[in-house]
Amino acid sequence: MIIMLLGAPGAGKGTQAVELAKILCMPHISTGVIFRANIKEGTELGKLAASIINKGMLVPDDVTFAIVKDRLSQEDCADGAILDGFPRTIPQARMLDEYLESQGKKLDVVINIVIDEQEIVKRLSERRVCPECKATYHLGHRPPANGINCDVCGAEVILRDDDKPEVVQKRLDEYHVSTEPLIEYYKEKGNLIESKGVNGIRDSLNNTIKALVMRNV
Ligand code: AMP
Repeated sequence: MIIMLLGAPGAGKGTQAVELAKILCMPHISTGVIFRANIKEGTELGKLAASIINKGMLVPDDVTFAIVKDRLSQEDCADGAILDGFPRTIPQARMLDEYLESQGKKLDVVINIVIDEQEIVKRLSERRVCPECKATYHLGHRPPANGINCDVCGAEVILRDDDKPEVVQKRLDEYHVSTEPLIEYYKEKGNLIESKGVNGIRDSLNNTIKALVMRNV
């Protein structure tokens, strides 16, 4: 089964995807995580991605699709995967549909995480990530135990470059123009469900699981 998490930046796609992957025992594919790992390693892809991500723009569709296709073709994805942050444009969605069809598969369900835009801006400014193990925190409702260091590996948690206020607005603009049309795209295909991304991870995840159960997933 292929599940995809859709939503504005800061909707909580990544946090929910990590938890869902554990519950459903499925691999989690996050294009954002893959790009950031490449940036850290200084690969050619990383150099390209850094120049785009730090401006709040989107990495080109063909580059992004090639990464996802490669990851989906690996053995651990034979029974499915949870896609987080991909597709983010209509061309990416079409490329994915074509690829899955060629493999005798389909995108089974798209979970649209709905959240208020004011809440997004607040959330992103308070989000912190561990640069080493990628754990995510929120200074308000899920801070690291000592407020500074990652609970998992001890590295100092940081504000992502693209969570800086000037970049957040650009990412939101990009979301409205390029990604929001996917809601209609998947509604028409009949595989979209909605989940309210409110009140912290526990409630948000509950909403998603209820929506999946009601859909018989
Ligand atoms: P995320 O961690 O999902 O918020 O992604 C961080 C950044 O990586 C985004 O703001 C984009 O610049 C880039 N990115 C992630 N996924 C995609 C995608 N599917 N298409 C294009 N760019 C992406």
